[in-house]
Amino acid sequence: MKKTIGMDRAVTRNWRPATRAVRGGTQRSEHGETSEALFLTSGYSYDDAQTVADRFAGEAEGMTYSRLQNPTVAMLEERIALMEGAEACRAQASGMAAMTAALLCQLSTGDHVVAARAAFGSCRWLVDSLLPRFGIETSVIDSADNDQWEAAIRPNTRVFFFETPANPTLDVVDLRHVCDLARAHGITTVVDNAFASPALQRPMEFGADVVAYSATKLMDGQGRVLAGAVCGSAQWVEEYLLPFQRNTGPNIAPFNAWVVMKGLETLSLRAHRQSRSAVEIGHAIEERIARAGGELRHPGLASHPRHELALRQMDATGPIFAFDVGTRERAFAVLDALELIDISNNIGDAKSLMCHPASTTHAGMTDEARIDMGVTEGLLRINVGLEDVADLTEDLDRALAAAGI
Ligand SMILES: *Cc1c(COP(=O)(O)O)cnc(C)c1O
Repeated sequence: MKKTIGMDRAVTRNWRPATRAVRGGTQRSEHGETSEALFLTSGYSYDDAQTVADRFAGEAEGMTYSRLQNPTVAMLEERIALMEGAEACRAQASGMAAMTAALLCQLSTGDHVVAARAAFGSCRWLVDSLLPRFGIETSVIDSADNDQWEAAIRPNTRVFFFETPANPTLDVVDLRHVCDLARAHGITTVVDNAFASPALQRPMEFGADVVAYSATKLMDGQGRVLAGAVCGSAQWVEEYLLPFQRNTGPNIAPFNAWVVMKGLETLSLRAHRQSRSAVEIGHAIEERIARAGGELRHPGLASHPRHELALRQMDATGPIFAFDVGTRERAFAVLDALELIDISNNIGDAKSLMCHPASTTHAGMTDEARIDMGVTEGLLRINVGLEDVADLTEDLDRALAAAGI
């Protein structure tokens, strides 16, 4: 019997990245299905009472309840772990469930967190509003300034939390520097890798301890489901994440796990193609934005302050870029003149989408915090999809012209 139940982990770990993305974690049932089976079950039955007692005691392998294990979810988790180069992964109901679990599972009253100021709006809410309610201190810094990380460390600092590239300002964090610094101080790094995905950037190669995902974005890649994942060492997952997850229940539904797993099979193709298109379109409109007094930010362009660093730590620079058109009125005029690109606040999708972060993804923040992280009133963020670059460029040209840019 080949490639059926219980494939040898040592074999799969030797596979190269493309093979891992397509085959990693697959566990075939006795039917030999080619596409992974979808186990829509909340519970499991047992041949005898001792079997279930042994499983609950942790003395025998096997499923007991889908808040604890599910075969479809387990396949997704193994595939992501393989792609990430992580010892272990646990899938979550959404990206925010992943970020919340990754932080709360290891933090206690009296701990201190240093976080990047440039971050997804809800990630900032965790740092600014949720953690302090439980007596966890937080400091927010300019993540692109290596010195600020060190300066923010206190004796009780437990976690560094950041995204790179960041949503939506495209700030790039020096992974090697920040992870080395954390390790030297016994601090755990939690990296939100949603903008890159494991196809473009694997923070653990630079010393990150925990990598957390919104799998809603590039991993699904077709705008279908909410999903998340947290990767770490086997020991960290066992000691911190699993007790939290098993008892609080932010689990992904098996159906959503299955959808994301199918997305992973094409992730690398999509992420590289969309990255290339983003750079092409960025080049095409960069000068026009500059002439109108604005700035276009994408780590794949030479104009990005950390372009060289981004090229060193990423395989490609991702489908998302942002640019400033001066005022909210002009930003709305650009959006309203689009004919092909959708007005939408999602990213990572095969469809090109554009949004105004200040009034959507980052609307929940104070004006002061928003301006401090660079989310200006004229900022627009675009996710470049898989459409023809010429059609996208034409649509943007038309929309910019309509807004007088
Ligand atoms: C979208 C996003 C999240 C939240 O993910 P959901 O799946 O929407 O819960 C977190 N971090 C970043 C960087 C994101 O882009």
